[in-house]
Amino acid sequence: MTTAQPPHRKAKALRPGAIRPAKELCSECGFCDTYYIHYVKEACAFLNQQFPALETQSHGRQRDLEQDNEVYFGVHQDMMAARKQQPIEGAQWTGIVSSIAIEMLTQGKVEGVVCVQNTEADRFQPQPVIATTPEEILAARVNKPTLSPNLSVLEQVEQSGMKRLLVIGVGCQIQALRAVQDKLGLEKLYVLGTPCVDNVSRAGLQKFLETTSRSPDTVVHYEFMQDFRVHFKHEDGSTETVPFFGLKTNQLKDVFAPSCMSCFDYVNGLADLVVGYMGAPFGWQWIVVRNPTGQEMLDLVMDQLDTQPVMSQGDRHQAVQQSIPAYDQGVTLPMWAAKLMGMVIERIGPKGLEYARFSIDSHFTRNYLYVKRNYPEKLAAHVPDFAKKIVGQYKLPD
Ligand code: FAD
Ligand code: SF4
Repeated sequence: MTTAQPPHRKAKALRPGAIRPAKELCSECGFCDTYYIHYVKEACAFLNQQFPALETQSHGRQRDLEQDNEVYFGVHQDMMAARKQQPIEGAQWTGIVSSIAIEMLTQGKVEGVVCVQNTEADRFQPQPVIATTPEEILAARVNKPTLSPNLSVLEQVEQSGMKRLLVIGVGCQIQALRAVQDKLGLEKLYVLGTPCVDNVSRAGLQKFLETTSRSPDTVVHYEFMQDFRVHFKHEDGSTETVPFFGLKTNQLKDVFAPSCMSCFDYVNGLADLVVGYMGAPFGWQWIVVRNPTGQEMLDLVMDQLDTQPVMSQGDRHQAVQQSIPAYDQGVTLPMWAAKLMGMVIERIGPKGLEYARFSIDSHFTRNYLYVKRNYPEKLAAHVPDFAKKIVGQYKLPD
């Protein structure tokens, strides 16, 4: 007796460089580099917005639109600020993501971890892998701040016969993954997400570094931090900070990928556990536990962490409203004014969860305008209801 092959096995992955089904909105998530392209119309985050269905599938319910914290941060059962007592050298923050992945593997919860290393020639060029040793997980630490085809290894998962898998990824990757997770032949999938915003192609990253840093070629790490500054770390260990308000907005307006300009999944709403920073005080990471699977992962490292409850301080609304036309018109302040504004807003501006809401509001209003102007026919279906509620608080230009 022969068993029928699943239909995707006969599909053909696209060759590198070929135009993807989402065309210019493609985030190069890697899905179409595999035979799962068979499901792309339903699975692609930019072709089919399906948060309510996938939230219900992943967490047992949709986010509660009457609860402010759920509108902003998605379905969750717990949130906290945390940092590793002994940070991992060279991690993006303190290495909570890598530590969880290592425990998942060494304690036998999973057989492999989908994560992204870099190529030998370029520290920022992503190289997705299925890691099966702690060393391979550690080699994937630190952000590759570029679009990354993490899902390109999915075919290998099914072919390897692995039954228990951890995937680390950003929102667009996780949306497509969730749509096909029951086709991968797995008994258990764990999803560890990070928030993500304003990602860029490798060429876009170069432009960002060249317009913003004093020494673009020696940058090993950067982050937009809660103190309203971009922090760059250089090869020689030195740090450089540039206030957000001093960014050359007029030159950088086109640098972000169109996929990221039309994304409303900043907080990775479909991951089981999310590790970022923006809802935590300066220097701390922010953890959102969405469901019991997320709690199971977090429990593995709790004894390695210092934690504190999340806090919220300030009122972001006025700052967001003022930033909308400023960004739209590409206003760039002289550096002295930008530094002054940065100092003032750091002292009196939003902190903790209110900083996270500030960042979400600023990006969602910008992205809503982008979709409305460039893809008006997609606006109604592509923007999820939680994002419409957030954007609805502000007065937008046409
Ligand atoms: P580490 O232990 O250093 O591990 C980092 C993990 O990230 C690795 O496992 C690696 O596989 C994975 N990774 C690296 N690059 C990519 C990529 N391009 N795509 C998918 N996975 C990747 N947090 C916020 O709170 N606000 C933000 O605005 C924000 N923006 C981000 C933008 C990008 C492009 C990325 C990748 C992350 C962003 N984060 C953001 C998350 C944050 O920067 C940290 O990644 C997170 O706090 C984990 O830090 P860590 O030290 O625990 O991670
Ligand atoms: Fe395919 Fe991913 Fe691009 Fe959508 S975003 S077209 S699923 S590669």
